[in-house]
Amino acid sequence: MSGGSGDFFRPELRNLRAYEAEDAAGLIKLDANENPCPPPAGLMAGIGEAAAALALNRYPDPVATALRQLLAERSGWTREGILLGNGSDDLILLLLAACGGKDATLLVPAPTFSMYRHIAVTMGWRVEEVPLTPTFDLDEAQLIERASSCSPRLSIFASPNNPTGNLFDRGVMERYLRSAPGIVVIDEAYHDFAGASVVGLLAGRRNLVVLQTLSKIGLAALRLGILYADPLLIGELNKVRLPYNVSSFSRVVAQTVLENPGFLENQIRMILDERERLAAALARLPGVTTFPSDANFILLRTDRPSRTVFVTLRQRGVLVRDLGGNPGLLHGCLRVTVGLPAENDAFLAAMADVFKA
Ligand code: PMP
Repeated sequence: MSGGSGDFFRPELRNLRAYEAEDAAGLIKLDANENPCPPPAGLMAGIGEAAAALALNRYPDPVATALRQLLAERSGWTREGILLGNGSDDLILLLLAACGGKDATLLVPAPTFSMYRHIAVTMGWRVEEVPLTPTFDLDEAQLIERASSCSPRLSIFASPNNPTGNLFDRGVMERYLRSAPGIVVIDEAYHDFAGASVVGLLAGRRNLVVLQTLSKIGLAALRLGILYADPLLIGELNKVRLPYNVSSFSRVVAQTVLENPGFLENQIRMILDERERLAAALARLPGVTTFPSDANFILLRTDRPSRTVFVTLRQRGVLVRDLGGNPGLLHGCLRVTVGLPAENDAFLAAMADVFKA
């Protein structure tokens, strides 16, 4: 866009496209890695009561002490080392805003969550991408070499990785943490499905940040992201964080749910069981290859153009994510989120129609 005095926007925006979510109206929604189950009805009633008691005329509690205390107890990390965001997207933006500046470089593996690159580019960062191996593992030698040649201020690893679904090797990440310059962010958006976390590595490390979110375990509408780091680092990030970045509504709902988390375990177990059932059924379809997943979604590659598969599935009422337009390792790939058993059955039936033996 330009005006009388020339372009108003940063030149980096010219080649970017805004994030667009697919219209899911009337479709089985297996495209966004959400939990298909809402919280149980009894808990929803408690959430309603907590919401009704909110002082809507007041600004939110800017430090959310009680919620951070709950998260400290859940994670085993100190409350002073926890900062909350409007989703973990907001925390990624916060990290890039706090560490950025002229000539700042972000190092990420490829493929990974597209928002790292997207946000960094909008803020003028240089982005160095280090390809994953063909089995989607971190390429340790390449990473260490590239980190020493480009001196990243930030490196971000999603583990489990989106869209590949696999957990990265903890030893590789630990060695990278010891040798790389800058801050290393490990984004654990899907850790509840992997049963693993690196929060235990935080003690004594000033260059590690761990991100988690409530979005994938059933509270995507809240937009609540969690950042764990050394309290000194949190102090710096707090200088950039907008004071009321988490709404009172999100805070009280999250608190109510985390005080009664029993149901989550059952929902996660159902998702893991369904993940295994889906993977086994997909593996029996001719022309379909699946990749092992530690998350609540499965990456698959087919012998047809991924757009054709995506459109055919959508015509049959199932929305998945088409990633095959990307060159490189994701060529021909689609990503499907694990849904409710009946939703997964509908997806499998549609896939079986497309990939008849
Ligand atoms: N990190 C990863 C790896 C993700 O896949 C996502 C969601 N797609 C996010 C962060 C963002 O999650 P949130 O809803 O907390 O902003």
